[in-house]
Amino acid sequence: MMRYDLHCHSTRSDGTLSPAAVVQRAAERGVQVLALTDHDEVAGLDEARDAARETGIRFVDGAELSVTWRDTTVHVVALGIDPGHAALANGLDAIRKGRDARARRIGESLAEAGIPDAFDGALAYVTSERLISRTHFARHLIDAGHARDMKDAFKRFLTSGRPGHVPHAWATLAEALGWIHAAGGAAVIAHPGRYKLSAAELRALIAEFRDLGGDALEIVSPSHTPGQYDDFAALARRFGLKGSCGTDFHGPGESRFDFGELPPLPAGVDPVWAAW
Ligand code: AMP
Ligand code: MN
Ligand code: MN
Ligand code: MN
Repeated sequence: MMRYDLHCHSTRSDGTLSPAAVVQRAAERGVQVLALTDHDEVAGLDEARDAARETGIRFVDGAELSVTWRDTTVHVVALGIDPGHAALANGLDAIRKGRDARARRIGESLAEAGIPDAFDGALAYVTSERLISRTHFARHLIDAGHARDMKDAFKRFLTSGRPGHVPHAWATLAEALGWIHAAGGAAVIAHPGRYKLSAAELRALIAEFRDLGGDALEIVSPSHTPGQYDDFAALARRFGLKGSCGTDFHGPGESRFDFGELPPLPAGVDPVWAAW
């Protein structure tokens, strides 16, 4: 059984290691097949692919797309894409541009709550001029003494109902799946246990995803409890979807699972890589 890790981030989005360093760390820790899945970005894939060739690890071109489904932000992991495909590249460009405007609004919203200059503060933590995320705001808020750690920063400032949270419309589910499939990739609902959806809403999301041609559910993820691995395995089977797994690694010490620490996919699930 090969060790797959199909979800992680580099400095091209909100991770703290370069694409090459991500690949090196994964290889050293026993990962055999790795997908780099930066948020709304494919710019790190060339570097990661080159590093993978040197270390002998098998590499999968990926991305994690931000989607708005019924007012909820949902992430869709794309695996095995052609990163140069025009429709996908243009779609990701549009999502990233939306991030810039959103970040300014987050800064304004925090200023109104008495935290000035958070936009410039977050910019100091940005590691790719192409992408700013709430993670960069969180790192600034921690170092400026407004929050204890990542969890605290999100809970106090960056989630729904908090002063630094602003509504934002990402891509639609149909757009994201259209781009991913046009680019030859498989589409995976990332960490389905993380969304604030009722059980009925989650089933509606999965049904719509399946009807749009979606391929898999991410089952094994640090966002899930072991009990949820079984729940999502059952949902995947019920909806005729495959299963995926990934650490969602963002940097040493920032993720619950480091590379090489992922439990296996539950038995009875058809892995998304079966056809690779
Ligand atoms: P964004 O795409 O700009 O909305 O930022 C989302 C990112 O923030 C996620 O990919 C995570 O890396 C991070 N994030 C979201 N919620 C939390 C949390 N509660 N604790 C730590 N990181 C979080
Ligand atoms: Mn992230
Ligand atoms: Mn995500
Ligand atoms: Mn992620």
